[in-house]
Amino acid sequence: MRFTYFWGMAKKIFKGKGSLAIHGGRIPDPNYSHITPIYATSTFFYDSAEQGMERFAGADKTQIYSRWGNPTNAVAEAKIAALEADGILNSQGEPLVLKALLHASGQAAMTTLFMSNLQAGDTVLTHYSLYGGTQELLTKVLQANGIHTIIADLRDRAQAEAAIKSNPSIRLIHIETPANPTLQCFDLAMIRSLCDEYKLLMTVDNTFATPLLQQPFAYGADFVFHSTTKFLNGHGSAMGGVLLGKDLEFMRTKAWKWYVLLGGNASPFDAYLLIQGISTLELRMERHCANAMKVAQYLDQHPAVAFVNYTGLPSHPDFATAKKQMKHPGAMLSFEVKGGLAAGIRFINRLEMCVKAISLGTVDTLVSHPASMSHAGIPKEEREKSGITDGLIRMSVGIENIEDIIADLEQALA
Ligand SMILES: *Cc1c(COP(=O)(O)O)cnc(C)c1O
Repeated sequence: MRFTYFWGMAKKIFKGKGSLAIHGGRIPDPNYSHITPIYATSTFFYDSAEQGMERFAGADKTQIYSRWGNPTNAVAEAKIAALEADGILNSQGEPLVLKALLHASGQAAMTTLFMSNLQAGDTVLTHYSLYGGTQELLTKVLQANGIHTIIADLRDRAQAEAAIKSNPSIRLIHIETPANPTLQCFDLAMIRSLCDEYKLLMTVDNTFATPLLQQPFAYGADFVFHSTTKFLNGHGSAMGGVLLGKDLEFMRTKAWKWYVLLGGNASPFDAYLLIQGISTLELRMERHCANAMKVAQYLDQHPAVAFVNYTGLPSHPDFATAKKQMKHPGAMLSFEVKGGLAAGIRFINRLEMCVKAISLGTVDTLVSHPASMSHAGIPKEEREKSGITDGLIRMSVGIENIEDIIADLEQALA
């Protein structure tokens, strides 16, 4: 049996990402447990002082303390690293090897990422239409610690370059593609070329796409993170976040040190749920994606709908960018119901099957109305700058039977 599929080794064995999602990252279990056990333990004992010394020196790789690393978490980390690196070669022409750190949430993964790479006086360049938590982390927490943020439309190379030229303290470009909730896409290759030219770090939030639809490391990203709370877990049963990096030395030293000291490690129980979820990722994504395309086409021709934001429709301004760098436009979309705020609220209230909730990437279809919910506190004018109009509905299309999703939309829009 081949049971040691750590890191890059896995890609030599599997032909498809579906197999990798199931078998990647497995470790041999001393009790032959088929399913990865939950190591619900805070610490790991030594047989002798000498063994303890070897572990601290790194000669013996056995875990030491669960905030520093845990065997259940390590399986989830290896699985996601294998998926993100799958099929990519490094600059020496060898299979890319990534290191992952599993966190308690996407926010915790981002915190380790930004705090370990930036210091007071540095600036982050990013775009409009970011995940709310990312935007607030940057503009509130990091800002209060002397790390600044500049926002520009990074779909436009000239605008991005002008921002870089006028701000020599920019150290890092952060992008989320596709981005929440307008599904704007950013050209990974173009951003990389700017990062090369101006010696900047490139970080990507790959939550919406998952490694099955898009692999930012193939375009030279330095770091990628996911909220594993979303598609990777897939069932809405646990929070989590993962930070991935290709500079293994940095990941094992500084990123790991900041991870350990900030204390954002995942719980092994949540890691266990994540491992179960990832096993069906390919199957789920196929259905999520097929359903989303049908929902987008259905809404696009509906007389009660003003417009649909879905990168699989040629009308989306970033259709070409998505097509270039994604295997499929994915399962997230948003659309504007005609009639403003009241129409948006009416639509939400009439839904019978689709679940009224924020979050995304779960097996069930989740629908939210940003203007009355997640973004209600933001003045209308400011909201609209990020594309959040009064009748905008955000949908995470689930894996129910498509007939049921369409029927629910049909009766709610009637
Ligand atoms: C949910 C989400 C996050 C934050 O992740 P949490 O797990 O909620 O902390 C970051 N980015 C994107 C795109 C998200 O959807």
